[in-house]
Amino acid sequence: MLDLVIRGGQVITPDGAGAWDVGIEGERIAAVALPGTLPTASARVIDATGKIVAPGGVEPHAHLAHGIMSHPDAPSQTLGPEEDTVGMACGGTTTHIDFAYLRTGGDLQQVVEQRAARWKGNSYVDYTFHITLAGALDLQVFEQIPEAIQAGYPSFKVFTTNVLPPHPKRAGNRLDFGRIHYAMEKVAPAGGIMVVHGEDEDLVQFNYERFREEKRMEGENLHLVHTKLSESLAFARTIALAKATGVGVYFVHTSAREGVEAIRDARAQGLPIYGETLHQYACFNAEYYKTPRGFCSHTYPSLKLPEDQAALWHGLVVDGLSTLATDEYPTNLELKLRGKTIEDVTGGNLGAEARMGIGYSEGVVKRGMSLGRFADITATNAAKIFGMYPRKGVIAPGSDADICMIDPSIRKTLRREDFHVSDYSPWEGWAVSGWPVMTLLRGKVIADNGKLLGAQTDGRLLTGRRIEASILSRPAC
Ligand SMILES: [Zn+2]
Repeated sequence: MLDLVIRGGQVITPDGAGAWDVGIEGERIAAVALPGTLPTASARVIDATGKIVAPGGVEPHAHLAHGIMSHPDAPSQTLGPEEDTVGMACGGTTTHIDFAYLRTGGDLQQVVEQRAARWKGNSYVDYTFHITLAGALDLQVFEQIPEAIQAGYPSFKVFTTNVLPPHPKRAGNRLDFGRIHYAMEKVAPAGGIMVVHGEDEDLVQFNYERFREEKRMEGENLHLVHTKLSESLAFARTIALAKATGVGVYFVHTSAREGVEAIRDARAQGLPIYGETLHQYACFNAEYYKTPRGFCSHTYPSLKLPEDQAALWHGLVVDGLSTLATDEYPTNLELKLRGKTIEDVTGGNLGAEARMGIGYSEGVVKRGMSLGRFADITATNAAKIFGMYPRKGVIAPGSDADICMIDPSIRKTLRREDFHVSDYSPWEGWAVSGWPVMTLLRGKVIADNGKLLGAQTDGRLLTGRRIEASILSRPAC
């Protein structure tokens, strides 16, 4: 017996978008059927006429309740899941992946359990974690990798750079390429994937020194410190190691044309290499740093140039990139705009709530992205790459009934009132065509027209992630 029927919408399925009705039983999708053919005697009917029915968004890159490294003199944390996932729910995202940091002396199972305990009862949407191998770890730590993959945590994040400048001194997250290679050797045979922040440490740190010496400290120079060349070098080096070890790699926040090209070249060789970019990288460039709220759109590496934006959009709409993410790192506006120099700006984005809507408006409406591709880059591909498919990221019988319904007739300029997280949004003033109007998490309506209907206890930890062999053997999505 169906509990819910979504009727009359344009539904995005793996076989294309079309006029279908979606039948939901309990927490799962039970049927995708011809219009008017599903029994509705016992079911609640949601009229989706004129709407687009997309898979609930999967945000592959979030840092909630995370220590803020930018201002060591004033330690603080990003907003937690209890606040940020309200925005995800209202914006059509039903699953997010955060990070559990493993540092020297730590235990892998323990760090995951600690993060899961922090989320339990505090998230409006489903969640899981990548494991970050942070800093120069002892070699015996790497022995725990196969066990973690077995336990359903198959994605390992590494930083090829310390990211932040040498002044003031901060704890670094960089893993040297020796250890990255060693990690790849453990991850590949066990069925895991590497998640890589790729920038060249030597170039980035030298540029910080040089710009300090030359007194070019203005934050608008960030893209000249975190350069296109730096991304190019680190991606190439990482891909060479991946080729040698046979591991799959997912590059987070690709920011430059060179990054997209490196990924596309590797994929053309048949390597299982995947690229992510961020909606802020695609929609803003370094000129924006010169405006009063310019640093609202800064995260590391940095905004780049118009030619890079064009390459990122091409990668998203046509081919080369696999996911549109946020690098969510939510703070209030005062903290976000506290620093003005290359050494003290606050990195990290706020925008998981806007991700689905911006992806639709900028991708589908403005740049002709197909609806199928929209579902791929906002939900399906992340679910596949991180071992949650077909439970997540797809509208098909048997899958979790996670839905993002978009009203394509909405035309508006986004205002502060359109958002639910923190005291600002980087997207205030942005004009959109189409916006999410309803979100379902496992069959429950958790948001309706910007009104939160879900509960903080609705989100569940996604256990048992397993990446399909096809994802790890070739560029499959
Ligand atoms: Zn990040």
